[in-house]
Amino acid sequence: MAEPSKKISPSTPNVAVLRWGHRERDKRLTTHVALTARAFGASHFILADVRDEKVEATIAKVMKNWGGKLRFEMGIPWKQVVKKWKAKGGVVVHLTAYGENIHSSDVLKRIKAKGKDVLVIVGSQKVPSEFFSKTVSDFNVAIGNQPHSECSSLAVFLDLFFRGRELGMEFEGAKMRIIPQAHGKKVVKALDSWVRNKQI
Ligand code: SAM
Repeated sequence: MAEPSKKISPSTPNVAVLRWGHRERDKRLTTHVALTARAFGASHFILADVRDEKVEATIAKVMKNWGGKLRFEMGIPWKQVVKKWKAKGGVVVHLTAYGENIHSSDVLKRIKAKGKDVLVIVGSQKVPSEFFSKTVSDFNVAIGNQPHSECSSLAVFLDLFFRGRELGMEFEGAKMRIIPQAHGKKVVKALDSWVRNKQI
């Protein structure tokens, strides 16, 4: 059985997630997008254009108990995030049902071939048309060409990008740890020493 590891691999590019759109009815979903980003190996989450302290507090609480270091930012205009990201040499991937199909095209291979850090954009309601343009998105990627959700598309993209290795990752600084069970629930206090021994 594969041992849990702290990092997916030292050479794996970092992935940041930009969530665009945060209407009243999207609020809970934004939290779920951030939790998905954390659980599936992203290192940075940006809630663009708006601020929501409740989302930030929920993610902080999850990290306090379950560990990890997801960098959380909010309120930054999306154009500024994209401009800065590109200026630093990163690539931008927009997840959309209208993009190149991740299964039937070689788009993932082309993204990986860049070997650069990736900013993944997920929307909510109808996104600005600029998102589809070359100036914003280096890649428009469809997780199947059927509409579904920002959470499901993000989870599948990250899982394919990290080749499933993120699912075996151990989160640094966790207070609690789940011991996997065939039946029932087992949660133990995660001692630093245990984490250190298992992760190096
Ligand atoms: N009706 C919206 C539109 O036309 O853009 C779709 C909104 S969908 C509920 C919210 C977000 O989920 C999209 O902005 C996109 O990021 C993501 N999404 C939904 N289906 C997807 C798919 N098949 N592939 C990739 N991303 C998808």
